[in-house]
Amino acid sequence: MLIIFDLDDTLIDTSHTITRPLWRKALEEMIQGGLQVEDFSKALFHLWALDQNTQSSSETLRLFLSFYQANISLQEIGLKALQKIDVLQTKIQPLPGVLEGLKILQAAYTLAVVSKGVESLQREKLKKAGIDTAFFSKIVISEEGNKKVYYKKLFEELKEPPQNCTVVGDRVLYDLKPAKELQMRSRHMKWGRGKVYSPWSEYVDQEIYSFKELISYFEKLSNLAVLDGN
Ligand SMILES: [Mg+2]
Repeated sequence: MLIIFDLDDTLIDTSHTITRPLWRKALEEMIQGGLQVEDFSKALFHLWALDQNTQSSSETLRLFLSFYQANISLQEIGLKALQKIDVLQTKIQPLPGVLEGLKILQAAYTLAVVSKGVESLQREKLKKAGIDTAFFSKIVISEEGNKKVYYKKLFEELKEPPQNCTVVGDRVLYDLKPAKELQMRSRHMKWGRGKVYSPWSEYVDQEIYSFKELISYFEKLSNLAVLDGN
């Protein structure tokens, strides 16, 4: 059985360890660009809070700037600042339970990662989070395209029927919808933006709130398979 993980906010705690410091940078640069806020800390908390409830950084910035009645052209400055990630200077953490959990899972399952992003950056994040890449049979990182193509390639290559494959990810439309369209199973990691209410429940087989919950689910499943003699 194959389990495919998304990376950001599924294995790596991107929203707390990477995105939050970047929002600070974005706010600083928008202020340099002419944004006026009375209280920096309050504005920063406002940005963080908004970002928990939107579908994208652009939407967060649009709502934030309209609240402050600021020029929407500052959105571009904010978005650029969010891309200035200095991986070497950032302390990157995995989600709680990931390091121990992957060790348990790899004993019974084939594991893989399909992530959208810049390959060198995503690999550096894995390294800095202390996640051993040897746990995964395949790591696919791509800047472009629908994940569906990569999921299909993976289960064909690893000779697994799609019904025996599970995708775990925090973003329903990017991570889970393509999985369901391929008859794979899907687990929605409710982390980062994944915490937001999602109206696309038809693409989610199960919602999970921690990595530990995921492990106990798969442990039960593999024990059942042993009992069944499979
Ligand atoms: Mg993600």
